[in-house]
Amino acid sequence: MIWYPYEQMKTMKSPYKIVDAEGVYLYTEDKKLIDSVSSWWSVIHGYKHPELNGAIESQLEKFAHVMLGGLTHEPVQRLSDKLQSLLPGDLDHCFFSDSGSVAVEVALKMALQYYMNRDETRRTMVLALEHAYHGDTFKTMEVGDDEDYHFVLKAYGESKNVIHIPTEIEALEKAFAEYHDRLNCFIVEPLLQGAGGMRMYDVSFLKRARELCDRYGVLLIFDEVATGFGRTGNRFVADLVLPDILVLGKALTGGYIGHAVTVANHKVYEGFYDDNPSHALMHGPTFMGNALACSVALKSIEVFEEQDYMSNIRRIEEITRREMDGFSDPRIKEVRIMGACVCIEVYNSDTIKGYQQFAYDRGVFSRPFLNYMYAMVPYVIKEDELVKVLTTMKEWFQ
Ligand SMILES: *Cc1c(COP(=O)(O)O)cnc(C)c1O
Repeated sequence: MIWYPYEQMKTMKSPYKIVDAEGVYLYTEDKKLIDSVSSWWSVIHGYKHPELNGAIESQLEKFAHVMLGGLTHEPVQRLSDKLQSLLPGDLDHCFFSDSGSVAVEVALKMALQYYMNRDETRRTMVLALEHAYHGDTFKTMEVGDDEDYHFVLKAYGESKNVIHIPTEIEALEKAFAEYHDRLNCFIVEPLLQGAGGMRMYDVSFLKRARELCDRYGVLLIFDEVATGFGRTGNRFVADLVLPDILVLGKALTGGYIGHAVTVANHKVYEGFYDDNPSHALMHGPTFMGNALACSVALKSIEVFEEQDYMSNIRRIEEITRREMDGFSDPRIKEVRIMGACVCIEVYNSDTIKGYQQFAYDRGVFSRPFLNYMYAMVPYVIKEDELVKVLTTMKEWFQ
């Protein structure tokens, strides 16, 4: 039997069974639902997209997968070229993996080994944010700050290798003053912290982080697994502030196949590039550079660019601001909007218990968590569909 994610299996209500999906819609046996979650924020083009389907079908006629150990192929080469030209600055070196968590692990391993390769063995610490989420594997849990994993703290105690700070410049400066010679990197979800509660913060924090990282030689890592490809209203937050290492996942393949990439700049790459074999990056997920994933990722990026998705995202943000204008309720702490993300934070999590079924009955799939009711819709959503999602959210409070 299936062991479902993030659920107490004993008490979980049975999941909705999806039998078909097309555009922004999920179909159960008897219901048609707008997916306001984009299958964990990844399905930016909607389901059963003819061009994305076509990209997989034509690659499938050649081969589905070959390993990257000693082999290479056109889809992975073209995707790496495409990312190199798409991404800002000298973020040019693409290491592929099969999930966001693994890609973050790779980023952290790169940052740590970068300093070990230079014999700077004191730099073992990671600076991270309060409420951070970077994945479910062990090192990503350690740099994350998620109450759901506090069993790890219980078992191992507080990590001496990670410091968490709030998104405040004062705290940032204090952390650098205290720890700068022991830090190897600062990892953030830039501008928008997703799983930690759709928390939004200002770009001035990231600009200051870039200055401090430069001054003290600390690597800056942007985990854009959730924010990449337009979610914040920027193509990448890296367009505003340039990190040393960038991680992309979720929307990379348009939500078709699990795949992710860790992109390093020249400085990081050169920290590994020499005649010493022990300076190599010893990592290699079995399915890295999967040909079907790379083919669909390429097509996804092509459609994103050719059909000017950034203006779709601006339109989504405008409609969302218009619909949410003046909306309030004493049970609501804050309504936050950034790009194609809207979140209603309530004071008490009981306030939104039952919302999922309420939305389902009205033809919207939603997945609120803790104190957060949110929408991260596919970018192809039409105005009336988006209004329906937002109206359903508001109606719950009436
Ligand atoms: C979802 C997410 C991850 C983990 O990605 P998986 O593909 O689920 O392993 C990492 N970082 C951020 C910011 C995410 O939102």
